[in-house]
Amino acid sequence: MANQEELFKKVVAHAKEYGFIFPSSEIYDGLGAVYDYGQLGVELKNNIKQYWWRSMVQFHENIVGLDSAIFMHPRIWKASGHVDAFNDPLIDNRDSKKRYRADVLIEDHMAKIEDKINKECEKAHKRFGEAFDRQQFVTTNARVLDYQRQIDEIRARYAELMNANDLDGLKQLILDLGIVCPISGTRNWTDVRQFNLMFATKMGSVIDDSDTLYLRPETAQGIFVNFLNVQKSGRMKIPFGIAQIGKAFRNEIVARQFIFRMREFEQMEMQFFVRPGSELEWFNYWKEERLRWHLALGIPREKYRYHDHEKLAHYANAATDIEFEFPFGFKELEGIHSRTDFDLKRHSEFSGKKLQYFDPDLNESYTPYVIETSIGLDRTFLAIFSHALMEETLEDGSTRTVLNLPPMLAPYKAAVLPLVKKDGLPEKAREIVDLLKNHYMVQYDEKDAIGRRYRRQDAIGTPFCITVDNDTLADGSVTVRRRDTMQQERMPIDNLLMYIHNNTH
Ligand code: ATP
Repeated sequence: MANQEELFKKVVAHAKEYGFIFPSSEIYDGLGAVYDYGQLGVELKNNIKQYWWRSMVQFHENIVGLDSAIFMHPRIWKASGHVDAFNDPLIDNRDSKKRYRADVLIEDHMAKIEDKINKECEKAHKRFGEAFDRQQFVTTNARVLDYQRQIDEIRARYAELMNANDLDGLKQLILDLGIVCPISGTRNWTDVRQFNLMFATKMGSVIDDSDTLYLRPETAQGIFVNFLNVQKSGRMKIPFGIAQIGKAFRNEIVARQFIFRMREFEQMEMQFFVRPGSELEWFNYWKEERLRWHLALGIPREKYRYHDHEKLAHYANAATDIEFEFPFGFKELEGIHSRTDFDLKRHSEFSGKKLQYFDPDLNESYTPYVIETSIGLDRTFLAIFSHALMEETLEDGSTRTVLNLPPMLAPYKAAVLPLVKKDGLPEKAREIVDLLKNHYMVQYDEKDAIGRRYRRQDAIGTPFCITVDNDTLADGSVTVRRRDTMQQERMPIDNLLMYIHNNTH
């Protein structure tokens, strides 16, 4: 496909056209950064959830699940620090009246300089051909070195300002870098202000004496406040984990890039409670383990990278992101954080309840340390979906659109297609659907020529098309066509269940 921007447009259009993702409230012109998952999207999303749940909960004896409520006691968000510090710095352009995140403007500016470095590399690559050594080039070429120096200087100044919460300094940096509003093209910026990302609502029938509640901005706190409940009722021994999948809400200032940044989204989080002192060992364990989970989907290693945080949150003693190369560049997909004993201690302090663990092996009580793995379900969907969507040129010169999803995640595992709509073939095909549907999502399709039906299934990622023809009636065999190779093989109906099982797990 021509370029990344075009690919991204194609991803959004394909997701809508085939019923994966629709803009929310579309007939009312939509609602910013809120999306609905359609008939195929919900299947893919559920399969991703299941893949995560199985590998985290089912495969780990010492990890159990939880489904805590979205509404929680308002003091929880005081204790967690979200009321005071879950802010983004925002800035408005007075001419376009558009609102931006000050940090994003600065990061985008750095990314543009990085693009220039990449362009220089591409040019040099063309010039030197095979002999091109990127590492050597970026450490010796004067122009690249100058770009890199600019990035380093901006990054250092930016990190210092963010750490010091220096809003005036951020504005000054934006002015010094000459950043203009992409809409108006001017530098007519307001001051930078802090904006809390939590959505507030009221509980109770009488508004006046009701309490302000927040829609949770992360699922993690539901796990922390249930730490003792789960530990005691499940007789859990440290180290152990609690996993949860659920909705989270953030009033993002700038919502863009489709389902990458939404105001209502889903997280899959796991908090792993460990002995103090062992946390960095476990941090490294989960860092590797989580990348393995991604790679098991068959997406190449070079699409992922770690981004270790130089600037740590005050409660963390190690943090890394797993970044994925989305069509708009490498961006965070999952965070792995060593959160120390911060959260449990804060909830102890704010609730007055002791949140400790008696370790029978040490014969002492302590507040466990926590390693968190936190991944966005929607971002994972986008990563998998955008990587899977491809246009292939076939040997005869024609093209086909294929959604090359891992078979395990495909919305439909198979489609059953009678070759023609007569001679008892539809009835036979329905029998096969009935046989398979106890185990798998399968689709029946009899409309249009067989070639068109194959293409439709390719476009939604169905790994197998099962074709029923006259021989099927005679000898009980069918043709199975594979999505990726388009190869066909003949097999008895009796083998279908085992065949699909072997190829989708
Ligand atoms: P970002 O810097 O991109 O805003 P974050 O560092 O605030 O993300 P975390 O608080 O670490 O994100 O949340 C954990 C995960 O939840 C992220 O890695 C991401 O996959 C997902 N996530 C966070 N915010 C959103 C959002 N607005 N829409 C979709 N997914 C999100």
